[in-house]
Amino acid sequence: MDVIETFSYQLVKWLIDNDITNVDVDLGIDFGYYNDKHVIEYSLFTQDHVDEEFARFFYEYGCEKTVSIFTMSFLHEVGHAMTLSSFTKEEYEDLMDTLEMAHKAVKLNPKEREHFSLDWYWHMPHEFAANIWAINFINNHFDKVCALEKIVKTNLDTIYSDNDIVAALYQWLDQLNEEEA
Ligand SMILES: [Zn+2]
Repeated sequence: MDVIETFSYQLVKWLIDNDITNVDVDLGIDFGYYNDKHVIEYSLFTQDHVDEEFARFFYEYGCEKTVSIFTMSFLHEVGHAMTLSSFTKEEYEDLMDTLEMAHKAVKLNPKEREHFSLDWYWHMPHEFAANIWAINFINNHFDKVCALEKIVKTNLDTIYSDNDIVAALYQWLDQLNEEEA
């Protein structure tokens, strides 16, 4: 899909314009940062309850500006890339293992969600560090964030207003989910 390629390209260009030159950007099922590949994936499929908790954290921890969820999520992933060096390889791998363990526990027994809540998740050291990086960036470089917001809004408007594109996106998502199942 050309529109997605254009969007990804513009996000990479925004990173390069802000001296973040070692990270690539691609569409994914969910937002994520893949430290082994240095790739940020962005999602065009939102999960309302996750978004709400996520935004609440930003404002609780001092975010002074109003920013769209997409931009917040994207900056969070940039925050992972920028704070990666605060952790040793072993520490980071331990954190990934803990997340995987929590994910499995919840899958096996949904009641485990009480232990591994979103609040727990956002206080994991690497998630916390990524959020604090993003909050500081928003507060200190709001002009740059506004430039990013403009890219995001223009592209999301184009994508979501085109029924063919939306249908193609969900077809792509279904296919990926089928492959995973
Ligand atoms: Zn994260």
